[in-house]
Amino acid sequence: MSARMSALDSALHQLGIAVHQLGLDDGMHAMLATPRRSMQVAVPLRRDDGSLEILSGYRVQHNLSRGPAKGGIRFHPSTDLDEVRALAMWMTWKCALIGIPYGGAKGGVAVDPRLLSRHELERVTRRYASEITPIIGPEKDIPAPDVGTDEQTMAWMMDTYSIHSGYTVTGVVTGKPVSVGGSEGRGGATSRGVMYAAFSALHEAGIDHRGATVAVQGFGKVGGLAAQFLHDAGCIVVAVSDWKGGVHDPRGLNPAALLRHLRSGADTVVGFPGTETITNAELLELDVDVLVPAALEGVIHEENADRVRASFVVEGANGPTTPDGDAVLEANGVRVVPDVLANSGGVAVSYFEWVQDLQAYFWTEDEVNDRLKRLMEQAYEQVSDLSRERGVSLRTAAQMIGVGRVAEAHRTRGLYP
Ligand code: GLU
Repeated sequence: MSARMSALDSALHQLGIAVHQLGLDDGMHAMLATPRRSMQVAVPLRRDDGSLEILSGYRVQHNLSRGPAKGGIRFHPSTDLDEVRALAMWMTWKCALIGIPYGGAKGGVAVDPRLLSRHELERVTRRYASEITPIIGPEKDIPAPDVGTDEQTMAWMMDTYSIHSGYTVTGVVTGKPVSVGGSEGRGGATSRGVMYAAFSALHEAGIDHRGATVAVQGFGKVGGLAAQFLHDAGCIVVAVSDWKGGVHDPRGLNPAALLRHLRSGADTVVGFPGTETITNAELLELDVDVLVPAALEGVIHEENADRVRASFVVEGANGPTTPDGDAVLEANGVRVVPDVLANSGGVAVSYFEWVQDLQAYFWTEDEVNDRLKRLMEQAYEQVSDLSRERGVSLRTAAQMIGVGRVAEAHRTRGLYP
């Protein structure tokens, strides 16, 4: 195995393990490994200076057997079809694992949103939304935010789809602002879920979360609020990082102050007064109770996994640990709460948002948070029970539950024709 497996290789490798554990046949394996639909579109962008650029956009619907496809839209320069395929596959297992009636999808545009003006970003979003309109819709495929996109992106997508339809269709995307059919609690849902997942793992091991030390890689939509929630609940967040590097304070950082620093215009946490600067690589190797990788795929791999000193890795990102990294962590006794479980709070509340949109009846933030907590604690328990019963890692157990439910749906529906 190469030291740096691609996201798609990792996803297929993990699927292979689950298929083997479940005793599924080759035909079913092929069915589960193959996306139902992959769409590649050209996204022409008129830059503010009048020049024209053609960007590549994608939407992959990995599986539709349990309901409409569901998954985020990523704007990132390294996004390509294979990455989107991997991320779509992980969405399928994630939705099945937490028991929400969706298949998995993912989309993206190969672009660095930080290099675009707000007007350019709006034009890219609207043109991309328009190009994928034939395959999305509240009963077909429901996008949401992911890396490089946010609730404003979703508002533009919803508006574009609605203009084409001739009426307002709030349920076509989730993660929208509350003012246009979004759900209370969706903004912080992934991060809140990461906190619940970390608590479940700590408490199961008899460790009080109050006073537990935490390092968070990625201080964006997921990592930023996860750090804040964990801090507010009594954990000591000793380090956080972003694309430029990280900050460390063994006595504990104040994530709310760091978030305010970013909101007031700073483009990185690096250099925040009273902190010591560390690299992203150093952060992953800190001696903490909980490490939360909340940025991109493949950051814990064969070459650095041996230097991870955390007792628990709680995956806020999708695919942050490669299978070779996983093997090393497992051999070293590091307990990994896998992505499809740890970061499922986002899509869980996306489901709540879609349900509210379809019913045109909205819940309070407390209702949303209570339901999210119950859903995640229940999923953790199921995964942990199966892991114990079968003597497999939490990742393999989580994949087995997700993959098993999708295989069951295929068998029950039968094959057409
Ligand atoms: N992008 C998020 C994820 O990877 C959320 C997807 C959604 O809400 O549909 O789970």
